Amino acid sequence: MSDAPEIRLSLGTGLHLRDADLWLDPRSPRPRAFVSHAHADHVARHQQILCSPVTAHLLQARYRIARDRLSIQEFHECRNWEGFLCTLLPAGHIAGSAMLHIVDENSGASLLYTGDYKLRSSRSVERASWKTADTLIMESTFGLPRYVLPTATAIESQLCDFVKESLAEGQTPVLLGYSLGKAQEIAAILAAHDMPFVNTASVAQMTEACRAAGLALPAATLWHDAIPQGHALIAPPQFLRHKDFSRISRPRTAMLTGWALNPSARFRYGVDAAIPLSDHADFPDLLRTAEIVQPRRIITVHGSTRELAASLRARNFVAWSHFGNDQLELFSDFP
Ligand SMILES: [Zn+2]
Repeated sequence: MSDAPEIRLSLGTGLHLRDADLWLDPRSPRPRAFVSHAHADHVARHQQILCSPVTAHLLQARYRIARDRLSIQEFHECRNWEGFLCTLLPAGHIAGSAMLHIVDENSGASLLYTGDYKLRSSRSVERASWKTADTLIMESTFGLPRYVLPTATAIESQLCDFVKESLAEGQTPVLLGYSLGKAQEIAAILAAHDMPFVNTASVAQMTEACRAAGLALPAATLWHDAIPQGHALIAPPQFLRHKDFSRISRPRTAMLTGWALNPSARFRYGVDAAIPLSDHADFPDLLRTAEIVQPRRIITVHGSTRELAASLRARNFVAWSHFGNDQLELFSDFP
């Protein structure tokens, strides 16, 4: 093992930067936490929350988090946090999503925590930008080699063809994606292709919250009674089980998710089509991230952590899963 300085981490009950006393996306309330973005699995009522301005807006709008708990920091701005230089970088995942880059002022050791992210550009979110770091903590949602997404152009064509074909056959295209993030990307794609759409209430609410936070998104027209002729409906996945779903005449449903790469996705979700529009990095982009950041060590979190760590080790990176057990001789260095 190298003797180079490292930022000390605890991994047991969540990711904790010990010397900065800062938790990274902790699930339970902590004194001080970095919250990478406003998806529900990343949010808890911490005493002090470091986040981007758009995430701060969404935390207040969606979860009623009090303003005085929020330490808001712009992307690319560098601030000193108890002897650590902290920079938030766009993560390209959903509106406001950030990565945290941190440098120990004394030792010069650096760390990059990705949170959820993607490398490729999208229509509704600022593209991710990067800094090199000694330690990389990266998500591994699509950490298996079979998760290779088609090009953005091919995915958009799939979506547009689905809508056109449904309408041509007198059906109502129902496009299913999470209310925050995926729904806005679907809306931006449809708007770019001049395809009209309406939204369910939860989608409209999130889109308006993103617009109020300063994002350039098409206004969200709310669906009231009938779906207007020639329009698609954007709805959250749980809409399929909602009583309002039965009000739609001749629905044709598509789930928009990276999991559409699994051959059984259509059946698993009970939809007519599954289209692989994702807000996460696919397997090739996960590997590419390590090349970009050039870390001396990598810790994988969320998803196929052990498999991704093994693939990274096969490419000569020092990498292991947050959960351990995959390379015990390295993991023992982390008390
Ligand atoms: Zn997320």
